[in-house]
Amino acid sequence: MHLESILVVDVTPVGEGLISAFIVLGGDKTAVVDPGPINGYNKLKVKLEELDVKPDYIIPTHIHLDHGGASCRLARDYPGAKIYVHPRGAKHLVDPSKLWSASKTVLGPVADAYGQPDPCEESIVFETEDGGKIDLGGLTLQFIHTPGHASHHQSIWIPEASVMLSGDSAGVVLRTNNVKVFIPTTPPPFKPDFYVSSIEKMIGFSPQYIGPTHYGIYDDAVKYLEGHLKQIKLWVDIALEVAKSGHTSPEEFLKRIKEADENALFFLENSNPIVQGSFIYTTAVGLMDYAVKTIKAS
Ligand SMILES: [Zn+2]
Repeated sequence: MHLESILVVDVTPVGEGLISAFIVLGGDKTAVVDPGPINGYNKLKVKLEELDVKPDYIIPTHIHLDHGGASCRLARDYPGAKIYVHPRGAKHLVDPSKLWSASKTVLGPVADAYGQPDPCEESIVFETEDGGKIDLGGLTLQFIHTPGHASHHQSIWIPEASVMLSGDSAGVVLRTNNVKVFIPTTPPPFKPDFYVSSIEKMIGFSPQYIGPTHYGIYDDAVKYLEGHLKQIKLWVDIALEVAKSGHTSPEEFLKRIKEADENALFFLENSNPIVQGSFIYTTAVGLMDYAVKTIKAS
């Protein structure tokens, strides 16, 4: 079994169990997928020291603060480590100033909870190709470009363990009383067509396990992905209905969606500022932004 070689580290800066970093231990090399926000970095560092491993590869699924935020700090602490990022994200690791100001606008105080990323030296940042692979010795990491949540999103497929590390491309999944609850994560500028085709692309690999950065690794990946596909279609339809009825606010969408999908209710009742500000509210903002533009254009 290769699943034991993929460790979930909790790097949530406020509360717990919301943001994973994944340490992937190959026979020869080690990778960290999604080092997390800079304010959760100490938890990752402690774990790496405890394991006595040094990352050779640092792979953010995308550059948002809660995934790629600690990439450059981690690279600075482990000289020789290389960062592999989607081509559209690379320049924002080298100069994160625009990313930081956009994050402050979209996330408000949650951006400060995540923390401001350090810039990276350009020479250690490498752009991935869709389908490109890295060999860790007995474990392969394959980059699967999965836009939708963000244009600069990639998932990581590990065939030997049948695990798809999906970042934010296939929703936020939490477990409560042994039941999985999940919602889409669709910040502006949200592209539903890309989001749907990325989920279909991941189903095409028939993964047994799925590792959404929020949070952990779960069995029955295909069943989950198919359920999530239905869910995103429902959420987009409801956003379009809300916009058609003349409403534009994310609050109006949230009112409607909690009646239509009890998963939404679970997230709305969670008082953690990351769940409220970063997961559910920005999802509503992205969906309504898309829906209002679509209705106006029709
Ligand atoms: Zn995220």
